[in-house]
Amino acid sequence: MTYLIEGQAGEWEVVIGLEVHAQIVSRAKLFSGAATAFGAAPNSQVSLVDAALPGMLPVINEVCIEQAVRTGLGLSAQINLHSVFERKNYFYPDLPQGYQISQYLNPIVGEGVLTLEMPEGQRKIGIERLHMEQDAGKSIHDQDPQRTFIDLNRCGVALMEIVSKPDLRSPEEAGAFMRKLRSLLRYLGTCDGNMEEGSLRCDANVSVRPKGSDELRTRAEIKNINSMRFVMQAIEYEAERQVGLYDNGRDVDQETRLYDPDRGETRSMRSKEEAHDYRYFPDPDLLPVDLTQEYVDEIRASLPELPDAKRRRFVMDYNLADADAMILTAERETAEFFEEVADGRDAKLASNWVIHELFAILKKDGKDISASPVTAAAVGKLVGLLSEGTISNRIAKDVFEEMVATGGDPEAIVAEKDLTQITDNSEIEAAVDQVIRENSDQAQQFKEGNHKVAGWFVGQVMKATQGKANPQIVNELLRKKLG
Ligand code: MN
Repeated sequence: MTYLIEGQAGEWEVVIGLEVHAQIVSRAKLFSGAATAFGAAPNSQVSLVDAALPGMLPVINEVCIEQAVRTGLGLSAQINLHSVFERKNYFYPDLPQGYQISQYLNPIVGEGVLTLEMPEGQRKIGIERLHMEQDAGKSIHDQDPQRTFIDLNRCGVALMEIVSKPDLRSPEEAGAFMRKLRSLLRYLGTCDGNMEEGSLRCDANVSVRPKGSDELRTRAEIKNINSMRFVMQAIEYEAERQVGLYDNGRDVDQETRLYDPDRGETRSMRSKEEAHDYRYFPDPDLLPVDLTQEYVDEIRASLPELPDAKRRRFVMDYNLADADAMILTAERETAEFFEEVADGRDAKLASNWVIHELFAILKKDGKDISASPVTAAAVGKLVGLLSEGTISNRIAKDVFEEMVATGGDPEAIVAEKDLTQITDNSEIEAAVDQVIRENSDQAQQFKEGNHKVAGWFVGQVMKATQGKANPQIVNELLRKKLG
């Protein structure tokens, strides 16, 4: 579905490129041994290197290099065996070095691709590059009316900056890109993807052009967007703002803007600086990073099965609908949970129970699957009881509720409450006969051609058997006896 904006003289399309900052999963920082845990007391995780005291020298953290290569491989990207750290020079109070160590001309990862599943089909979004860099500290303006405080805990934390090509064409595609990238990073274990804690942030470059044109017009960059919803809202607002400017005969300024979620609008922050303003140059304190092909191949061999491959396998091996396979593979934990439930059992039934029943209670309690009140082994047993016909679907829902409330074992709950489905024809027949006998009016209506009343009879028999009668047998017997 093409996303177009109605202007005065015709339709406009939007051109979007994303720059994503992803915090690398690593206990130590990029160039120091200081810890990186979230939520620590201010300035408690700052080494002398992070504070940029004179004479302190950076030492590269090998784990971060491995994580960047792993991520590059997950993006099917070119891994550059030779890459260089450079200094990006600017002043900010929470940047004690006076420069950020980043990569510029020679990033560690080159071009790659991320595939999106959109309602209208697959979209392959180009990745321009991935480079490593340091995060800055944090200025805190809201704790004192007079003063600004500075917390250097984040200073020097390792980031991957992942830059897409300007291939995205709608707010929905930008949102899908962020979700897919987050899923991939979490599978790879290279970033925890926690946007509330700032582990994943996104800058969006947005421009518009008349529909059908292939020009690239001046773009505005919206900085530091920290939720999936805001990414889409900010782009939508910004694209419409730009069309409004062109409609009024004005131009779009190249600038950096901020998204204000409370007002739902972007605001100018500063005019955009150019790369040459930063006076990049290779950091004389650091050697270039030179990797061997064997090192890269070893990391490639250690990659887990990634979401796209897992989704295809779920469709093939378990015969699931693609949409269901997509839901089940979005998170590695969900996929693993499902596979344990489905192990040796009816996979479609297992998929339904995970997607519908389990997700419903997780959503209700605002829980992650890792905090699920029921184990995969227990849900698997329940699915087994159901597909063997030991319990009916209605009873299964009651048992599941009990499992959620008490953490009990489904087999024990069924035995203890005597919930086993009645499949004995004579026992069901007795219940059917009694219901028909006690409701002769309705039985007469059925004979006179009102077949809707059959459903009511099924309900009565189920009620008489506390929901334990096999519904199929009930149906057959009723048809025989009423007809
Ligand atoms: Mn950056």
